[in-house]
Amino acid sequence: MEKIYDVIIIGGGPAGLSAAVYSSRAKLKTLLFEKAACGGQIIITDLIENYPGFDSGVNGYELAMKLESQAKKFGTDFVFEEIIEINDGKTKIVRTANAQYGAKSLIIAAGTKIRPMGIKGENEFMGKGISYCAVCDAPFFKNKTVAVIGGGDSAVQESVYLSKFAKSVIVIHRRDSFRAAKSLQEKLFSIPNISVKYDCVPLQIKGSQKVEGLIVSNLKTKIQEEIILDGIFVFIGLIPNSEHFQFLKLENGYIITDENMRTSAQGVFACGDIRKKQLRQVVTAASDGACAAISVEHYLDDGL
Ligand code: NAP
Repeated sequence: MEKIYDVIIIGGGPAGLSAAVYSSRAKLKTLLFEKAACGGQIIITDLIENYPGFDSGVNGYELAMKLESQAKKFGTDFVFEEIIEINDGKTKIVRTANAQYGAKSLIIAAGTKIRPMGIKGENEFMGKGISYCAVCDAPFFKNKTVAVIGGGDSAVQESVYLSKFAKSVIVIHRRDSFRAAKSLQEKLFSIPNISVKYDCVPLQIKGSQKVEGLIVSNLKTKIQEEIILDGIFVFIGLIPNSEHFQFLKLENGYIITDENMRTSAQGVFACGDIRKKQLRQVVTAASDGACAAISVEHYLDDGL
């Protein structure tokens, strides 16, 4: 190892990038790992309406690019490789397939991944009518019929986006009310080409070369029906990317921290969606990142 960093940040979403802005601006030698492109979940979000300061909303990709260039401007180094192992000694060692890197502290901002439905046909039709990203795939469904699975913020927000392309959007939700924010729900209910099937779960995807139908079951009436459609967008929640962090105290895969982002291990901090917390938003990810970086400063100064 040529160089020991003050802090290695794992994950280049809003939490990791905000941590990088704060730590490199504080003159800590900072290295950030990202396995794909920076931005995390927000690069597939068309419009973020609730990030403070952007009264007309901000495109997720644009915000991610600004955060990345801000971190670079302050001196953060970036490595675009996947981590394969972490050694949590006094010096933290992070290994990729090609090299290893050392640091005095670690900030974990690895975020979450999309939860699949796990039903028959899902793997078979992936990319052939099954999608997990409206911004990426909505234009392929111009004037077509699509279903959206889920009832959280993502499902409702992305249904609204899809309604600008598709002829008809059918939201399929397993309960009789949405968990999404009321403001998002109001928007959804005001759009004429969106309809909702409550109390229904998807059972099986039908088709030959591509998706042609979806069998759903009504949990109250037990009646099954096949909906004829062209595409299915899945937004049924997230799974924390915590497979490399089993040495930490976790709950349902989410990393437990205190309010200063300290985890159960000395010199290891966590921030953003991977942390056990109530609210997962860009603004809370950014705030977590700032707190984590300041906690690293205190840890390096005082060992606290
Ligand atoms: P989420 O809030 O966990 O919602 C998942 C939805 O999928 C729920 O409605 C859930 O039903 C349903 N579901 C879960 N498992 C299912 C299954 N096996 N079959 C059918 N339905 C299933 O996930 P999310 O909407 O992806 O949001 C993730 C986080 O990002 C949240 O913290 C959210 O607030 C945040 N987010 C915020 C915004 C925004 O502020 N604009 C936008 C997107 C995401 P139940 O309701 O019955 O549990």
